[in-house]
Amino acid sequence: MHNAAIAHLGLDYVYLPLPVKPENLAAAIAGFAAIGLRGFSITIPHKQAILPLLSEVSAIAQAVGAVNTVWRTNAGWSGTNTDVEGFLAPLKAQNRDWSQTTVVILGNGGAARAVVVGCGQLGCARMQAVGRSQQKLETFAQSWAGASLPLNLTVHAWETLPDLLPDADLVVNTTPIGMHPQVEASPLSPQMAEKLSNRAIAYDLIYTPSPTRFLRQAQVQGATTIDGLEMLVQQGVAALTLWLQLDTPAATIPVDIMRHALKQQLGLPT
Ligand code: NAP
Repeated sequence: MHNAAIAHLGLDYVYLPLPVKPENLAAAIAGFAAIGLRGFSITIPHKQAILPLLSEVSAIAQAVGAVNTVWRTNAGWSGTNTDVEGFLAPLKAQNRDWSQTTVVILGNGGAARAVVVGCGQLGCARMQAVGRSQQKLETFAQSWAGASLPLNLTVHAWETLPDLLPDADLVVNTTPIGMHPQVEASPLSPQMAEKLSNRAIAYDLIYTPSPTRFLRQAQVQGATTIDGLEMLVQQGVAALTLWLQLDTPAATIPVDIMRHALKQQLGLPT
């Protein structure tokens, strides 16, 4: 999607995959600076390890605890996390007041952190993160102790979902359950899915298949559904905007072309 946008804008850049071993991260980044790279995306397993190598880390990336986008400045490398912006884009399009919203977050890994920060920015009333490991849940809960946003976050065992779901206004699946090729899997058992309210929004961060089984269950309950494609597009739009800011006003990033290219690449209907 980045290359489609770059070609459309007629710019002389290219977006390339560059596999880097953990032990080579610092050397790779010094090399990127030496050859004049404008910026890069960074993913597993480097999203936290890169933090000490950056001269500036945005408040959002500090809150999430991970960086996914890096760009060159006169001072060195700056990093941020565009997953929060990507996650929020389809929710902001709903144009509603979130202040009374109860959010249930399925999972407590990396993507769940972006969801917590995003829902905190929306001003959601409460967040309930559900996980299968009590120890990981507690670490997750404690990690927000110094958060600058007021976060009303509690953590819960997976078995409590039937009690939590009826009151949930927004249910976000941040687990990989249901992702291709396990397309018949869902984070919710049939009995749990029946507890989803028809006024809820079910948001699956997974983008293939579309819809996932979780979203199909939510549709049956009459809930509104959002898949992970727009989050993926919009985190990329936000990253490209940062890299091209010297050449291109943000408004000219061709979002439709990026979305179309991504769908083609993923084999989704365009
Ligand atoms: P992660 O850090 O590995 O976290 C995954 C979470 O899911 C962990 O809390 C894990 O629990 C939980 N989990 C996994 N299998 C489970 C199971 N069978 N039952 C209960 N919980 C389970 O992964 P991530 O980076 O957050 O990514 C998670 C998903 O989000 C992936 O599908 C990814 O593709 C998607 N994602 C989408 C976007 C987008 O732009 N649309 C962006 C980021 C991520 P344990 O810790 O107990 O294993």
